Amino acid sequence: MGIGKESIINEVEENRESLIKIAKSIWENPEVGYDEHFASKLQSDYLKEQGFEVNSVEGMETTFIAQYGSGKPVIGILGEYDALPGLSQRVCTHREAVIEDGLGHGCGHNLLGTAGLGAVTALKALMEKENIKGTIRYYGCPAEEGGAGKVNMGKRGVFNDLDCALTWHPFDINTPIRCGMLSNFSVRFRFKGKASHAAQAPYNGRSALDGVELMNTGTNYLREHLIDSIRIHYIITNGGDRPNIVPDFSEVWYYVRGKRAEDVREVFHRVVNVAKGAALMTGTHMEYKILSAIYDFYPNDVLTDVIFENLSLVGAPKHSEEDEKFAKKLGETFTEDERLSVAEGLSENDNIIEEYVHEEVSDLKNGKHHCLSCSSDVGDVSHMIPTAQLSVGAWPIGTAAHTWQSCSASGSNLGFSAMLVASKVLACSAYDLLMNRDIVKKAKEEYKKDMKNFEYVPLMETIEIE
Ligand SMILES: [Zn+2]
Repeated sequence: MGIGKESIINEVEENRESLIKIAKSIWENPEVGYDEHFASKLQSDYLKEQGFEVNSVEGMETTFIAQYGSGKPVIGILGEYDALPGLSQRVCTHREAVIEDGLGHGCGHNLLGTAGLGAVTALKALMEKENIKGTIRYYGCPAEEGGAGKVNMGKRGVFNDLDCALTWHPFDINTPIRCGMLSNFSVRFRFKGKASHAAQAPYNGRSALDGVELMNTGTNYLREHLIDSIRIHYIITNGGDRPNIVPDFSEVWYYVRGKRAEDVREVFHRVVNVAKGAALMTGTHMEYKILSAIYDFYPNDVLTDVIFENLSLVGAPKHSEEDEKFAKKLGETFTEDERLSVAEGLSENDNIIEEYVHEEVSDLKNGKHHCLSCSSDVGDVSHMIPTAQLSVGAWPIGTAAHTWQSCSASGSNLGFSAMLVASKVLACSAYDLLMNRDIVKKAKEEYKKDMKNFEYVPLMETIEIE
């Protein structure tokens, strides 16, 4: 290991306590997308104190960009800090909410953003010491969970002069993410009918809830005729007020996802047709509103190789015996089948679930034509500029995101150890890019080749609204 990387790793270690404190406070004060006032202030204040130039982004209150250095290349590290509803959970190995039905960090974004803070701080110290040219940026990105924060940031041009973007996600395995992630449309379908007394004069009413139910039934029939990577899920957000009133309003919220944005767009139009059919059958009126549409994630191999090299150098998170016991007990709350089905997403080792914490660094070789069954607005950034990410084992092996178990682990030492590893890997990788312009050039060539003649336009703007 060179002196530069050694000093990055030491610097992250020196900031260990303050980084853990930040990640812990964000975990203890969960906020949903676009409401992350506490987290964004805590992080931007920290970076201001560290001597970064911090800028806000117009019209996006909980977004900020912290920058150090000058000139090319400009390397960005993407951070997130939003939480999820209903996932409030104590750090323990059984289901116990801090606040019943409260918010919780079930996706570990308290760790995600804070690792980026650690990375740019360590890099800045080294850049000052060695007089390294170039610019580093931390992007405080709001609302990853369903809010497409990075799409809205992209519309404001904040990624335009960026050369490469790096990020990570807390999962269960230590590996570069060489595969894609799903494109995702988030859409609310609203049915309007006619209210009536459900016993006295039901024939005078037209049930909006019937519209929703028949739409869902139709969509479930549609599933048989869709390609494998498509995922459709929905919740009924309004099903009426009382059983004795024929509901004149009902709403269902859909996610339609798939490996490629163009496939999802096509399926989305078929789902709209199902909704139209349901409205026709029930004599109701249907309208829909697309809340967000994000691209699939497209990894850059040149950058992912850099990430793998540095992950191998830094090594997997180390755990105390106590942490291992905690991971085993937490992991045992899933069945073996559940654990295997999740662990397979990021590991090609069939015996992976024999352990509860991932103590090695593996290299998921499946490549960019495979896909993880989840989505992220990092996908849009990957369609704008060369982007790469890694996964670090912050949760017991086989733990899915958006569970009480992932929330518990994200507030524990398991999560904090993973965060510090991610910090070091991101900083060392960005350092390689600052020191070796040839890598940046090659990453850009690969991006150009992959994207062919694609010119980034937010996915939402490519959808024909019927
Ligand atoms: Zn996430």
